[in-house]
Amino acid sequence: MTDAAIAIHDLCKTYQGGKRALDGVSFDVPRGSIFGLLGPNGAGKSTLINILAGLVNKTSGSAAIWGFDIDEHPRNAKASIGIVNQEILFDPFFTPIETLEIQAGLYGVPKAQRRSMELLRAVHLEDKAKAYARTLSGGMKRRLMVAKAMVHSPPVLVLDEPTAGVDIELRQQLWSYVRSLNDAGVTVVLTTHYLEEAEELCDRIAIINHGRVVANEPTRELLGKAQEKVVAVTVDRDVETPPRAICFDKVVLKGTRTLEITYSKDRVNAGEVLGAVQASGLGIVDVSTKEADLEDVFLSLTRGAASSG
Ligand code: ADP
Ligand code: MG
Repeated sequence: MTDAAIAIHDLCKTYQGGKRALDGVSFDVPRGSIFGLLGPNGAGKSTLINILAGLVNKTSGSAAIWGFDIDEHPRNAKASIGIVNQEILFDPFFTPIETLEIQAGLYGVPKAQRRSMELLRAVHLEDKAKAYARTLSGGMKRRLMVAKAMVHSPPVLVLDEPTAGVDIELRQQLWSYVRSLNDAGVTVVLTTHYLEEAEELCDRIAIINHGRVVANEPTRELLGKAQEKVVAVTVDRDVETPPRAICFDKVVLKGTRTLEITYSKDRVNAGEVLGAVQASGLGIVDVSTKEADLEDVFLSLTRGAASSG
């Protein structure tokens, strides 16, 4: 019916007690993509992923994984997806290799088709294959969870905040593994609050806020939406109080001679901003602009998100 790796239509979730965590969410995850699902804390990301995982029951709406509706074809839907939950869940009595073997058993993967050791190697846990679970660091456990999600070779891998608490080096390793899976054809969905990572990794990004989709676009186009621009202007003399102008949203003095000016590109252009600096009696020596990043877009789309909705 649909070509999407994941198709979500008008999904709603109200928890017992009345909290409406998802409020009519619809989007498709294109096959073969690395898709970022971003949003501030409490936006509803984990709720959505837990519905796909079958851990949370939706209130209404529909979701299909690899063309299989989660209500009509729950087994096929489940077989098509591997999920790494936000919480680290482990049986401490099993070694990594046992953990993978048990998981493969649960998914009915025949012994001959199991590749537990290969998976451990891929997540750099080969030498910990027979270690006690309690000797694994948080980062190692996280990587073991990724391997565990892949035992049945699903076409879709979903990672909910996989790098929370993982140090930079291991994060890089995890992402290179995720990239190699994607190169091999696996569709990847991830939530992360490291916006730089999302910007670098994801082909497409959806942003949710208070249970609603507020953006869903190719990463490049989303970045183009940033309305705030920053220009650093170096002037020809020391400045004590930065000049003010209506076209500046914000002006910060960096050192004694550089003004960092924020302006909205939908309201003014760089020429007007520079004109205002000159009009204040300062000569311009140098100008550099900073490209908008995902953080700018994210903040402008989710402003006021800290309040509960
Ligand atoms: P995110 O993963 O984006 O941080 P969550 O999906 O975890 O967001 O949470 C969305 C909202 O639903 C939050 O307000 C959260 O407090 C609430 N919520 C999450 N799980 C439950 C639950 N089991 N019962 C009641 N409310 C919940
Ligand atoms: Mg979450």
